[in-house]
Amino acid sequence: MNTGGCADPHGCEDTDQHLYEYQHHELTPDLHRRIEEHLATCAHCRELYAEEEVIRQRVKECACERAPEQLRAQVFAFIATFRTTRG
Ligand SMILES: [Zn+2]
Repeated sequence: MNTGGCADPHGCEDTDQHLYEYQHHELTPDLHRRIEEHLATCAHCRELYAEEEVIRQRVKECACERAPEQLRAQVFAFIATFRTTRG
C-alpha cells in the first residue's frame, strides 16, 4: 500500500489491517494503544481513519433499513472506488 512516506510503515500496515477492530474496540489493549499512537503521528492513517469514521456513521444510519452484509459490500465497493480515484 501507499504509506505516503510515513516514517513508520509497519505501523501503517497494522493500522490499515486493524482499523475496523480499533474503531469497534475489539483489539487487545496493547495493539489498541499502538494504533492510537500511530494515528497521532501519521497523517496518512488519520485520513484513512477519518474515512472509516464517515463510513461507520453511514452504516449506523442505514443499519435498520438494509441487510448489513449487503451494505458492507456496498461500502467496500465505495472505499475501493474512492481509493482508486484519489490516486
Ligand atoms: Zn501510518
